[in-house]
Amino acid sequence: MTIQLDERVTGAALMRFLRERGVADSCPMCGTHMSTSVHDPAGVLEDEAPAVRVIHVMDDGSRRGYGEFLRVCPSCGFIHYIRDIEVLAYLDEEGDNG
Ligand SMILES: [Zn+2]
Repeated sequence: MTIQLDERVTGAALMRFLRERGVADSCPMCGTHMSTSVHDPAGVLEDEAPAVRVIHVMDDGSRRGYGEFLRVCPSCGFIHYIRDIEVLAYLDEEGDNG
């Protein structure tokens, strides 16, 4: 498993994607507000920090065909994985229209 960061996909962009697709901000298990996993070691970028993207690498070094962004519930620990393909397509489309 490896982590990849793509400056285009910020926590805010991921939230825009989820809202546009009608996904609630609350945890489906306990109802707490979910938080998007971003890479913000200094804690200053907040929503503008790049979203953490998990890429699975096989034993032979090849990569699985897609990666995952994620949200975590800070209360019950539920993890919501979001496939990158749909998010990247959405951002491409958004870029074309903007
Ligand atoms: Zn929860």
